[in-house]
Amino acid sequence: MKTIGLIGGMSFESSAVYYRQVNEAVRARLGGLASADVLMHSVNFEDIVALQKAGRWDLAAKRLGDVASGLETAGADCVLICTNTMHMVADEVETRLNVPLINIIDETAHALKAGGARRPLLLATRYTMEQPFYAERMKRHGIEIMVPDAEDRTATHTIIFDELCAGRVLDPSRDQLLAIIEKAKAEGADSVILGCTEICLILDPAKLELPGYDSTTIHADAAVSFALAEGHGMRAA
Ligand code: GLU
Repeated sequence: MKTIGLIGGMSFESSAVYYRQVNEAVRARLGGLASADVLMHSVNFEDIVALQKAGRWDLAAKRLGDVASGLETAGADCVLICTNTMHMVADEVETRLNVPLINIIDETAHALKAGGARRPLLLATRYTMEQPFYAERMKRHGIEIMVPDAEDRTATHTIIFDELCAGRVLDPSRDQLLAIIEKAKAEGADSVILGCTEICLILDPAKLELPGYDSTTIHADAAVSFALAEGHGMRAA
């Protein structure tokens, strides 16, 4: 089994989900007491958030590049950035590696296509919904994403940073997200991407008005497929 390298801490609430999911997936596939061979470098999220707010993506790329390179030196056979938002700097991080970087956007696109989704609503941070990196990469896979309107983007971003990343899962916020999904369905969305690795803490992708695609589960699963050499886990964009 290959070693999975996880860049975590963004936030640690979702890194804990990744850790559980890669282990559960290995046990489900191999049985018995099998578990994943994992290296995680979990960063101080406060530092990363400060760089996000300052727009210093160059420094964030350097920081995550250093972490990725450290994971490779420590023995990781692949690296995952355990957040959609920080895929803003995925290309820079990838240049620091000789092992594959398993890209969350590519893997989500493959899952959407396999499920026949063509017009997904993206629920994510403001950065992921508003900066071009996510939509453009999806477009390379032939997928046009929809995003909520400005007010709903602000609400979603606030729920992610002020609540989910801080370990708070609140019913009124769940209702708010469900209402955003309902609105998107009426506007033609055929699916919904849980495009922030904490959203699975508040929404169950199997219990939504539209087929749900959870980026955390999809990404973790791709890492396990890679680790067990199941033939995917890293594909061309
Ligand atoms: N984990 C989140 C994501 O998937 C947000 C935290 C971050 O800004 O990295 O985008």
